Amino acid sequence: MREKMAVNAITTSATVAVIGAGTMGIGIAQVAAAAGHQVKLFDIALPAASRALEQLGQRLRKRVEAGKADAHSTETLLGHIQLTRSLSDLADCSLVIEAVAEKLPIKQSLFRDLEAICSTDTLFASNTSSLSITAIASALQHPQRMAGLHFFNPAPLMKLVEIVGGLETSPETLSSLQTLAQQWGKHSVVCRSTPGFIVNRVARPFYGETLRALEEQIADPATLDAVLRDAGGFAMGPLQLTDLIGQDVNYAVTESVYHAFYQDSRFTPSLVQQELVAAGHLGRKSGRGFYRYESEQTVPSATFASAVTADLPQSVTLHGDWSAIGEFAQLLTGNAAAIKHPGQTSPFARIDEVTFMLTNGKTASQVAEEIGSPVVLFDLSVNYQHAPVIAISSAEQNTVPHTAKVIRLLQSLGKQVIHLPDYPGLLVMRTVAMLANEALDVVNKGVANAADTDDAMRFGVNYPQGPLAWGSKLGWQQILTTLENLQRYYAEPRYRPMPLLRRYAANYSGAQC
Ligand code: NAD
Repeated sequence: MREKMAVNAITTSATVAVIGAGTMGIGIAQVAAAAGHQVKLFDIALPAASRALEQLGQRLRKRVEAGKADAHSTETLLGHIQLTRSLSDLADCSLVIEAVAEKLPIKQSLFRDLEAICSTDTLFASNTSSLSITAIASALQHPQRMAGLHFFNPAPLMKLVEIVGGLETSPETLSSLQTLAQQWGKHSVVCRSTPGFIVNRVARPFYGETLRALEEQIADPATLDAVLRDAGGFAMGPLQLTDLIGQDVNYAVTESVYHAFYQDSRFTPSLVQQELVAAGHLGRKSGRGFYRYESEQTVPSATFASAVTADLPQSVTLHGDWSAIGEFAQLLTGNAAAIKHPGQTSPFARIDEVTFMLTNGKTASQVAEEIGSPVVLFDLSVNYQHAPVIAISSAEQNTVPHTAKVIRLLQSLGKQVIHLPDYPGLLVMRTVAMLANEALDVVNKGVANAADTDDAMRFGVNYPQGPLAWGSKLGWQQILTTLENLQRYYAEPRYRPMPLLRRYAANYSGAQC
């Protein structure tokens, strides 16, 4: 039976210890001090820690000089952080947050030492990104007081904190940390200690699908990024983002999640990225990654279809169920209600003799073969009305004028058109389908609930919509069909639909997340 322990609410009068004054520790110390706590900062490398604190002071005072922060509150904040020389100075702390090197024995031995110093109701938290909270807490006599408190970099700016429960973590510990995160102005989500927690697991396909498209030579990096960013609505393209994160860091996270899931192919690391790391092209920090950062122009322009001057098509009729992307129906015809043959099928338009259809994981050529007419597929967009870019692919059976007619129409509606090779599931749709599939697995396995899973992706990596809300809006059948077709095309378990996706798509009870 689990041993009961008193866990006190942590008020702002409580002293908080932060261990490790590196990138994350100094940021966490700033967050705690800004919330009014006295903060004791400890690092085995005292000179490095005092340099980090000095640099924090310089950064914050620069903001005051620039009129972006108030001098009094800045000095109060800095006055709240005190460097300590010894762990034994931390005896009076109500909470200890560890942000030291990502090594299990180091973290275990640290908490073992702390347990001998701190009182029994001190809460212990680890900022680990990849280690098991259960394994770290196993070093403790009272593992129920220990949880993950996973901040994102930079900690003062990023809204999300994942609160991670290990096997022995008590509900009281989790709820104290939830209250605390709220007091600190953070949005917290709760999850079970499993590889990658929520964000670092669910986000893998965001990078993986674009890296795969690059490997398959579908387009150059700038064009692939433009599709995800300017059609998909993501704040940055995946390749741009990995350049910012660091190719080595992003690759290491993928490798760690891949191995933690016993080499499940849905997390397979990319050989293209491995080569970049091997070459030392780590992204912005090394001056070169997928892009070069020697000049101002860091991300080159995408390759768009040239302007088509042919006549506009004579007729556009809508068929199937456009409810999930009604704004596109409106844009195409000026009247979303003018759907000729509404029904349960995927949305498609007839643009003269060309079938113009939302991708469902088949290639345009496959669809053209099945229906015996020219086909242009379009990719998913976060909002077809506002997105400046739309990605399409065309069947190999089409004549040039067939495809040109569709491009002409889209250009006349103000869109920049990216004409990709005939790639199944295009880019945004396959990415969103894989994100939603992974998020459903998180929910199905009780790692986190649906609302927290979506919030984690919105607040932790700024996705324009939570993957579950996105999948639900699109329709689970569309997601399922896309993945089934991709799985058939590649003959790989990477795209296998998760059990919850099958249940939601079947919709036996009408109840879904
Ligand atoms: P870092 O290398 O910048 O800093 C680690 C600090 O810990 C160093 O100053 C080091 O001297 C100190 N240290 C090492 N062993 C120690 C010990 N036994 N006692 C006291 N101090 C010790 O690392 P970081 O990037 O800040 O990462 C710290 C933790 O946060 C890791 O667990 C990492 O996985 C996690 N994390 C990192 C990021 C990120 O983007 N960097 C994001 C989220 C979580």
